[in-house]
Amino acid sequence: MNCRGTDAVFVNKDCTPDFKPHDFLSEVLAKKFLSKWNGICSRCGLFQNYNRYSAEEINEFCAQMISKDRAVSEEAFHSYPVPEDFVKTFDDNYFGKRLLKWDAYIRENNLDIKRCLFLRPMFGAAPSFIKSVSPNCEISAVEISDVCQKTTSDRCEGITFLNGNIHGWFSGEFLEARDLDAIFVVHTLVHCVDIHDSLNKLCSMLRPGGRIFFTHEVISKPSNPFHVSYTTEWTLTSMLYQHFGRVDRIDDCEDIAMPAVNRFTKKNDNPDLVAMRTPALF
Ligand SMILES: [Zn+2]
Repeated sequence: MNCRGTDAVFVNKDCTPDFKPHDFLSEVLAKKFLSKWNGICSRCGLFQNYNRYSAEEINEFCAQMISKDRAVSEEAFHSYPVPEDFVKTFDDNYFGKRLLKWDAYIRENNLDIKRCLFLRPMFGAAPSFIKSVSPNCEISAVEISDVCQKTTSDRCEGITFLNGNIHGWFSGEFLEARDLDAIFVVHTLVHCVDIHDSLNKLCSMLRPGGRIFFTHEVISKPSNPFHVSYTTEWTLTSMLYQHFGRVDRIDDCEDIAMPAVNRFTKKNDNPDLVAMRTPALF
């Protein structure tokens, strides 16, 4: 998926979904979903699933699944409104430390975020934060969970949800956005069947100097059926540098996901990466 190399070292790992794919997927799609071929590219070192869906299969998969909420065992995703204490714990775990770090990064870099897009706002903590530092910011979003979308809409006045697919393959209305100051990508890239296609599309939506915050994208879960690439800080950074002129690191953003984050990050922490579209030189 990265260097188009075809030789890989096979790494056996059972695929363990926390739901029953046969309940709502056709036999053909369910079988492919569960039959991973996990390998490490002998050329570039990217650990990935080689038996992945095509763009056409992704469309079919999303149509059959209807909503991502059906493929989550966690009860909170099956009811709306979501219990307040669940949302609070979720926000504290995933965004408590992170938003303080983002705040410092935004100040240090004098970022003026007037137009931004969230790919997976989750339960709304991050867009609410952006609204607090930049009250007139025009915020749009795409979400794969209906429950998350409704909760975020309740919480963030004025947020606009756009149509399109971000689950495995980017397509649809949201890709028409241009000249964005920032895009916040939360745990979406590792599900993509073609990372470089996704990064190309994101890059073209930024203004020169605009930035993309990548959260929860350095993560290695080869047994999760939704995960296509199992990134380390090094593999993800090197892929980002194929599209962006500068990549920053925001250190130590979160503790909760540490067991699934590759421990061998540069600082043995869980970083966010921020990619910048450098101004055109001509
Ligand atoms: Zn490779």
